[in-house]
Amino acid sequence: MKRELLDILACPVCKGDLELEVEEENDNEIIKGKLYCKKCDESYPIEDGIPNLLPPNLRD
Ligand SMILES: [Zn+2]
Repeated sequence: MKRELLDILACPVCKGDLELEVEEENDNEIIKGKLYCKKCDESYPIEDGIPNLLPPNLRD
């Protein structure tokens, strides 16, 4: 995902802002990392460049 996407993305539970934790990125995209919501104390994974913003109880 592109870094700019962070401005658009919001926590699926509380619609609050997310904090980005980058584990791996290339020239223009974040490949692997996490989006963290402080309010919910919940992390959403970014894998293969795609953020997974499913609420935790709907995963799998
Ligand atoms: Zn939240």
